[in-house]
Amino acid sequence: MDNKILSDALAAMLGTSNVKTDEPMRLHTTFRIGGPADYYVLPQTEKQITDVIAFLKKSDISYVVIGNGSNILVSDEGFRGVVVELGDAFSNFEILQEHEAGTDSVFIRASAGMRLIRLGNQFAANGIAGFEFATGIPGCIGGAVRMNAGAYGREFKDILVSARVIDDSGCIRELSVDELELGYRTSIIARSNMIVLDAVLKLRKGEPDTIRKNISELAARRRQKQPLEYPSAGSTFKRPEGYFAAKLIEDAGLKGCMRGGAQVSDKHAGFVVNKSNATASDVCELTDYIKDTVMDKFKVKLELEVVKVGF
Ligand SMILES: Cc1cc2nc3c(=O)[nH]c(=O)nc-3n(C[C@H](O)[C@H](O)[C@H](O)COP(=O)(O)OP(=O)(O)OC[C@H]3O[C@@H](n4cnc5c(N)ncnc54)[C@H](O)[C@@H]3O)c2cc1C
Repeated sequence: MDNKILSDALAAMLGTSNVKTDEPMRLHTTFRIGGPADYYVLPQTEKQITDVIAFLKKSDISYVVIGNGSNILVSDEGFRGVVVELGDAFSNFEILQEHEAGTDSVFIRASAGMRLIRLGNQFAANGIAGFEFATGIPGCIGGAVRMNAGAYGREFKDILVSARVIDDSGCIRELSVDELELGYRTSIIARSNMIVLDAVLKLRKGEPDTIRKNISELAARRRQKQPLEYPSAGSTFKRPEGYFAAKLIEDAGLKGCMRGGAQVSDKHAGFVVNKSNATASDVCELTDYIKDTVMDKFKVKLELEVVKVGF
């Protein structure tokens, strides 16, 4: 489609201030890496999301939906198509029901763009427990459902009741936790190209002070173990069955190893960090080298957890 026609159509649906062209993706990823997206759009209402997605599908234009960009690596060439950010406009939650008879359960519906850190702190203030494990993960609800994000022995699967999605045919459906087919850092959302609009979580009543204490203890553990002083996309590789990626990488002698500006963190070998103006090519060269070395030394296949965009 002609650029002018496409940008006019996007602006008509979303308003000119919500459509950016040639937007550097390094501004929208925690890795601080990524070339320009042809179009970067910020829908403000659910109708705008459904309209823009229907239009992009009908026009056969590539698109990718992102939240906080904390688990993606965008190529140096950027993205030829439309990046759809579900961000601040979808950053709210509502308490659906205080109690399930005879239990202390609390049900919450949280929108796709809601940051987990903000949500966790609001839960603490409202005396809602059970989300502490997720509160330090720097993503949004949509990305967390898609990735079945987890930490400290818990994952989204443990707290999800359902998610409302736009399916691949453009219909809005509510999928139960079983229908979401959540596995280790994956889900049907990833496999079937769905878009998460919001999710229902089942949590429980708790004491605000205890919840806050749990959150700050877990945050301290993160600060101590993880290289939060450098941009990254979190754990670079999935945990291979029966092993820990970080231990394999460390045992292979790769801690501190660099390609261009990308480094295997010398604090936590499971993280590739952007040490100094790394490019996506630097990261790919380094992750390929890590994979080959771990395969040669330990015969274990490492698989990227980070999602590549625009390659
Ligand atoms: C310092 C650091 C620590 C981290 N720690 C953890 C951790 O402890 N546990 C963990 O699991 N992860 C961790 N991560 C990774 C990341 O934060 C999570 O995977 C998070 O859930 C991604 O959310 P996001 O909104 O940033 O998703 P994005 O990075 O924006 O997107 C990730 C994927 O989800 C898709 N997506 C995003 N929003 C939607 C939507 N609404 N509908 C459909 N698909 C969508 C994207 O297309 C992409 O494929 C960490 C990352 C960093 C940088």
